Amino acid sequence: MPILIRNIAVPRSLIANPDRFGGKADGDLQRGDLLVMDDRVIGFTQSPPEGVQVINGAGRILLPPLVEPHLHLDKAFSLPRLGAVGGDLMAAIAAQEADKAQWTDDDLRHRSNRALAELQAAGVSYARSHVDWGMGDDPHATPRAWNVLAEVAQDWAGRVTLSLSCLPEIDAFAEPATAARIAAEVRRVGGVLGAWCLGHRDRRPGFAAAFNLAARHGLALDFHVDEGQEAGLDGLALITAQALRTGFQGPILCGHAVSLMNQTGPALDRLLADMARAGLSLCALPTTNLYLQSRQGGTPDRRGITRLAEAAAAGVTTCLGTDNVQDAFFPLGRHDPMLTLAQAIPVLHLDPPFGRHLTLIATDAARALGLAPAWVDNSPAHRLVLAEAQDLASLLSGPATRRPLLA
Ligand SMILES: [Zn+2]
Repeated sequence: MPILIRNIAVPRSLIANPDRFGGKADGDLQRGDLLVMDDRVIGFTQSPPEGVQVINGAGRILLPPLVEPHLHLDKAFSLPRLGAVGGDLMAAIAAQEADKAQWTDDDLRHRSNRALAELQAAGVSYARSHVDWGMGDDPHATPRAWNVLAEVAQDWAGRVTLSLSCLPEIDAFAEPATAARIAAEVRRVGGVLGAWCLGHRDRRPGFAAAFNLAARHGLALDFHVDEGQEAGLDGLALITAQALRTGFQGPILCGHAVSLMNQTGPALDRLLADMARAGLSLCALPTTNLYLQSRQGGTPDRRGITRLAEAAAAGVTTCLGTDNVQDAFFPLGRHDPMLTLAQAIPVLHLDPPFGRHLTLIATDAARALGLAPAWVDNSPAHRLVLAEAQDLASLLSGPATRRPLLA
């Protein structure tokens, strides 16, 4: 039976065809009575068909399924047992490494299920988690967390799609046997080939091998790159050059790139133009970067964040990720892209009207992961989310009160 949801608002930035969609403009929202037929959103209508079932939308906001491009479910919610943690990135890595002795199957399952429940409540349909790879006793063995999270992903299929990206140091790909083993595990679970690079010695052969394996096996790439403010970090430039040299068709997502803050003027313009030409996407991770960067003692006087606005202006696909939640890298948080966007607003000067920034956690985040963007008008109605808010400032300021449209 057709359904008419009276008095509902949709952010215009999340409608593929705003002209055809109808409704009345109210700032960056379109308001009206929304017609849904056979699980398809038809658009706003003033002449609903006979026999339609009517629901009162009460002015609430309708959203497409959100996309979370960057998480660490192996680490999430480990904070309560970490004791007094704090410090920079390397201190966080060391504290989390010590905690890995506690990562039993049950522990990993319990913590990641909690995270996925938060994602579902936030209206997320697709999330990517990185999984630490290659520390501990046997640096080459498949991590326990990888296997557990692959099972958890299957448990959640149909509710939240969980994609896994391996996270070894880039040097690991410079060893052919290790690289082949990792790529085989990634293929086994339909995952993504990832690595982190922070001035590693073997980063050049490492990137070359990663691109080679990704091309050969049809894998997406996802790098933690240049997560530091020191001068001379060149990971992002090397990835860009490798992508241009090989013509790799992507997707290639680069997270962090805090060191872009060191670049200005023509050199920055050139790099960003090359990134756009190479089809790279850039993910900013405001909470973790603000928390771990700029720790020179005392109050930080520099923002640890990448140049998202400049990248977007240069034509690079940009998005926001939640990254760490209640672990050694960031001691607070919730797995909710809307909260991440709210936190990014003061950090990145994302000014009102806010509708235009929603793409960072929806359609553009999907593009960055190589997915088709889910607009309100091409998503199945049962995946749409109703938010308890009358305007976007209230939505971004409030708690995560969202539920499926057709619950
Ligand atoms: Zn990360």
